[in-house]
Amino acid sequence: MSKNNVINRINIDWSPDRNSPVPIYDQIVKYVCSKVSQGEWTVGMRLPAQREMAELWSINRSTVVTAMEELTSYGIVEGSFGSGTRIAGNTWSILMSEKGPDWGSYIKAGAFQANIPTIQVINKLEFRDYIRLGTGEPDPRLFPREMMEDILHELAGDITSLNYLEPLGLPKLRQALSDHLAKEGIDVSPSCIVITSGSLQALQLISMCMLKKGSRVFAEAPTYLKSLQIFQSAGMEIKGVPMDEEGIKYRFLEKQIRGMSSRGYEHLLYTIPTFQNPTGILMSEKRRQELLEFCKHYRLPVIEDTAYHEIWFDDKPPAALKAKDKSGVVLYLGTLSKSLAPGLRIGWVAGPESVVQRLGDAKMQVDYGASSLSQWVAARFLETGLYDRYLEDYRKEMKRRRDSALNAMEKYMKGKAQWRTPKGGFYIWTTLNSNISAEGLFKKALEEKILLNPGSVYDFSTNRSLRISYAYENSETFEKAIKKISELL
Ligand code: PMP
Repeated sequence: MSKNNVINRINIDWSPDRNSPVPIYDQIVKYVCSKVSQGEWTVGMRLPAQREMAELWSINRSTVVTAMEELTSYGIVEGSFGSGTRIAGNTWSILMSEKGPDWGSYIKAGAFQANIPTIQVINKLEFRDYIRLGTGEPDPRLFPREMMEDILHELAGDITSLNYLEPLGLPKLRQALSDHLAKEGIDVSPSCIVITSGSLQALQLISMCMLKKGSRVFAEAPTYLKSLQIFQSAGMEIKGVPMDEEGIKYRFLEKQIRGMSSRGYEHLLYTIPTFQNPTGILMSEKRRQELLEFCKHYRLPVIEDTAYHEIWFDDKPPAALKAKDKSGVVLYLGTLSKSLAPGLRIGWVAGPESVVQRLGDAKMQVDYGASSLSQWVAARFLETGLYDRYLEDYRKEMKRRRDSALNAMEKYMKGKAQWRTPKGGFYIWTTLNSNISAEGLFKKALEEKILLNPGSVYDFSTNRSLRISYAYENSETFEKAIKKISELL
């Protein structure tokens, strides 16, 4: 189902020219005809609903109707207008017997699965004029512009080339990360760190290199991993493990691991112990210790995703699992995306040297290294101590946002939902009291130009929860949007 969705939906990045003497409906007809005749839009692709096109171009719906009627009469489009119109045929190609390849079937043929439709919609609308109430990105207004200016200015004189780098990444950056992690009690040498293009790529490399088809990846339920298709595309199953307020209930795994091992499959545990995405749960010190013992006992490798570890508010969280890992059970994933700049695309994996080498080798086949410029920038941020200084202010700001977000929730959502107070990270996991589906609310909110992240995209079954984020919008906008959501409820 998801494959069809990605190939089917047409993205329109064009608008009619109001100053042109050509009538607007005619411009639309010509635009659609040119896209079809050039083979950019293929048979079966779906145009947005009439109402959406009218809104997009700020024109009367009747103008869209006229254009679609004309296109229908040519045999270019067909379908029920209410639910969108499909491309039906390429008359020119047929007449001239210039049949292009059947891109539709090619697009469906690959093993890599498309995003689920809700995520596709979110990915698209995040770049339009919507209030982003669930986004897992820092507010661009928090970007440390002056620090970045200084760093880029200095680097301009220091960088001697932007050639490819060695498989594990820029040695300076790996050294800087090794020093940075040492401050967190994690003892890992630069040769045991591989730089990736964000931690997403780390997950991708792990899925390609380390598991057989049919293996299982265990993860907290709900989990960020469920919103991706990386492991599923590689033929693995993600299996949800329940949580309580102290983190993952690892005992649940016992029977499953035994069963899998006896059938010759490998398995992994993926966990976000600190300020988990999406629930915000912070794994307790005790649970961390027990989990590590458990995984050591069963020789179960752990992918520890620490994306939010540095964004704590009052108290520093317990040390990462990796800090206590003396037997190399843990693959540690880090990223600069949640704290500093997601667009740098800098993440890393720290783990046993053999694993890191294997991932580095795969990386050389996939993209030949993360951006060299980004690696220089990241190294400089860390080495100079600017990163730590920046983090101090960043944490204060995030805490301020969390507090005013909670005030707004208290004011508008009391009696309508329940939520957990996060001690760090970006998210307030909010569960609706009434039997309203979060997906339904997501659609209603879109009409109000508010983008929500329904909890079901992270879960293993439908739920009534929302992942609400205070990281992206400022407090005023957050409150305005929550008020609206409350009214919708
Ligand atoms: N892990 C977690 C838990 C995340 O929330 C995200 C971003 N949403 C990522 C990994 C991916 O981040 P990036 O690839 O930008 O490092």
